Amino acid sequence: MPEIYKPGYLEAIFGPMKSGKSEYLIRMFNELRYSDIKGIVFKPAVNTREPGIASRGSNMQLEAIVIDEKYPEKILSHLETLECKFVGIDEAQFFTDNLVDVVEDLIKKEYHVIVCGLLLSFRGEPFGPMPSLVGRANHVTRLTAICEYPNCNHWAVLTQRLIDGKPSPYDSPLVLIEKSGQSDNYEPRCVNHHQVPKKPKT
Ligand SMILES: [Zn+2]
Repeated sequence: MPEIYKPGYLEAIFGPMKSGKSEYLIRMFNELRYSDIKGIVFKPAVNTREPGIASRGSNMQLEAIVIDEKYPEKILSHLETLECKFVGIDEAQFFTDNLVDVVEDLIKKEYHVIVCGLLLSFRGEPFGPMPSLVGRANHVTRLTAICEYPNCNHWAVLTQRLIDGKPSPYDSPLVLIEKSGQSDNYEPRCVNHHQVPKKPKT
């Protein structure tokens, strides 16, 4: 069996909505159960309904420590009191750019870090610290989904935001806190079917 823990190592997992990112992360941490390595997962507080990480496609779950996304450095203070060298960070795109410094710090301290999240926002643009983290990763896992546009079934690399069933315009907030009475959801889309009304031409 290959060594699970690699000191000072960064792995990145990214892909659009419904590409199985959480499932992938949960599987990785479940594998630790068969070793003597302790792992811990952090996630941002934004839009959180539950403390753990759950996979939509199955009933797999993973415990996670919730951190205020504005203060990713709190990950470091949490780890000071924990006997653990294997660290996961889920939904990394929601943290401020300071997460990059925090991850670099962890690498220097010989942690094995796995960051997981969306590389691109609903606008199809770089999302938070994720691109900088992917650029620093020693190993990258890129997941794809299937485009949910009717009758497409092509590989999807982008995330479509829909508000009440309609594509969300470019100028709507990057992070949307759910309002009562309004339903927003996300689905994977291919480049042909990704719609962002009012998006400026590049
Ligand atoms: Zn499509």
